[in-house]
Amino acid sequence: MTTETTATSSATEPPLVGTPVVPGLAYGPALLARTEVSPAAVEAYAARAADLGEEEALAAYEEAAGAVAAGFTARAEKTTGHAAEVMTASAGLASDRGLRNAVRKTLRSGENLPDALAAAVEQFVGLFTQAGGLMAERVTDLRDIEKRILARLVGEPEPGAPSPSEPSVLLAEDLSPADTAGLDPALVVALVTEKGGPTSHTAIIARQLGIPCVVGTEGAMSLAAGTPLLVDGTSGAVTADPDADEARARVAADAEQREALASWEGPGRLSDGLRIKLLANVADGESAAKAATGPVEGVGLFRTELCFLNRAEEPTVEEQADIYSRVLDAFAGDGEQYVVVRTLDAGSDKPVAYATLPGEENPALGVRGLRLAKGNPGLMTRQLDGIAAAAERTGTPTWVMAPMVATVAEAEEFAAAVHERGLKAGVMVEVPSAALLAHRMLEVVDFLSIGTNDLTQYAMAADRMASDLAHLTDPWQPAVLQLIAITAEAGIQAGKPVGVCGEAAADPLLACALVGMGITSLSMAPAAVRAVGARLASVSATDCEEAAEAALAASDPAAGRAAVLQVLEGR
Ligand code: PEP
Ligand code: MG
Repeated sequence: MTTETTATSSATEPPLVGTPVVPGLAYGPALLARTEVSPAAVEAYAARAADLGEEEALAAYEEAAGAVAAGFTARAEKTTGHAAEVMTASAGLASDRGLRNAVRKTLRSGENLPDALAAAVEQFVGLFTQAGGLMAERVTDLRDIEKRILARLVGEPEPGAPSPSEPSVLLAEDLSPADTAGLDPALVVALVTEKGGPTSHTAIIARQLGIPCVVGTEGAMSLAAGTPLLVDGTSGAVTADPDADEARARVAADAEQREALASWEGPGRLSDGLRIKLLANVADGESAAKAATGPVEGVGLFRTELCFLNRAEEPTVEEQADIYSRVLDAFAGDGEQYVVVRTLDAGSDKPVAYATLPGEENPALGVRGLRLAKGNPGLMTRQLDGIAAAAERTGTPTWVMAPMVATVAEAEEFAAAVHERGLKAGVMVEVPSAALLAHRMLEVVDFLSIGTNDLTQYAMAADRMASDLAHLTDPWQPAVLQLIAITAEAGIQAGKPVGVCGEAAADPLLACALVGMGITSLSMAPAAVRAVGARLASVSATDCEEAAEAALAASDPAAGRAAVLQVLEGR
């Protein structure tokens, strides 16, 4: 479609443009997620609650908190996996005795119930923030619980995603796990948020549900409820009041294309035959077994630390070997498939009790990943022994890589330890220094794997968890692409594989540009593989090279996406 057609037959207002994270087109009325309890209702309730005695107020709190916890439990029962775990944890937090006791204490000092609730939550927010890591991430859940309890007290529906009566586009400032668990993709056809980046919770859930999603869309919450919206999860455009017939026709054509994806069976190759390995990111034996049923050629990233997030003590070598064997077993077949095991990436956003150093001022720049091995070398060698035992037991080709590598000396020492055990050794490229010295890294390792989530965070100096920095935490940033291109070129020169295993690999459009730079494998959430594979099958090596040039030359992510679309589709 030409720009001219869009301008004449579609909306009069220019579209809002955010960061596209799940491709696809959807059309439907805007449905606004409520985020606040009405202040007037809270004020009226506070006046009424002033007359309540301590025991009556506490009973009212317990009833409201109990109802919120029951709601979470009911939602947990309707869902599975990570979403169910999050719901169950939130139910526990809503009915937590410590929180209740903090409310009681403040009531005793003469505060009314809404203020007592606010003070108790604030106290817990402080504790969670101080603990850092995953506990700090639960602050969002805590604030969500506070609003829900308050809504129950004042007699309003709990904030969050309302249940639509017709297929709708859900707009929100940001979505909490509680809002997204149990969303029905038949009724919520797209997600658009004002905050959040490509690795945000909203993006992950949308990818799982397979619905188009655009995050970091400034102005989305100013759209009126019910406004017809066309959401383009490939370009990031959110168009209000488009021509209805044209929008429906485009969505129908897109749905047909997406259906065709389901029949894409792999292996990954371009239209002119160039093979690109498509691999899965997994967290444990269960997710590996599930991934093995899809069209992947192995695992490009096994995040081992995710097996140990709830462990107080380091597992023995034997226990580790059992855990890793379950993942390797899923790909123990023809010897063609392989598994890339990443050693413990403990620290920062993934604290592991027995490994992470407590009380770091700035854990993302602290003793994280491979850096832990310096002060605790046994941690690394025991893990390598466990991996080597699992590789021997299963016979699966096993590659091992270290996270958070910054120097060639670190890479060399790590590679020696892995080679001693007869396995292939590599390092992740997540720190700009590793990208800049990729050619020297490749003199000492067998392969590189680019972690674009962290590479973007460190290149742009933008916290990957910060929902206000979505415009910076975007792997389409030309500076990030430049670092990837340097790394890929080093791989070509050395004749060694260089893959991408961050979220960038799951973006079908970006995948073409990455391949054009010389990337040899892409590893991603299994749900994203068919869309990436089908897109790669539709383009040639020359198309990919042109896409890479266009993306690298663009001034910003939106211009990069538009330029690559222009190269690949002429639109
Ligand atoms: C990355 O940083 O891109 C990566 C794959 O590692 P993680 O997301 O686990 O930090
Ligand atoms: Mg990383």
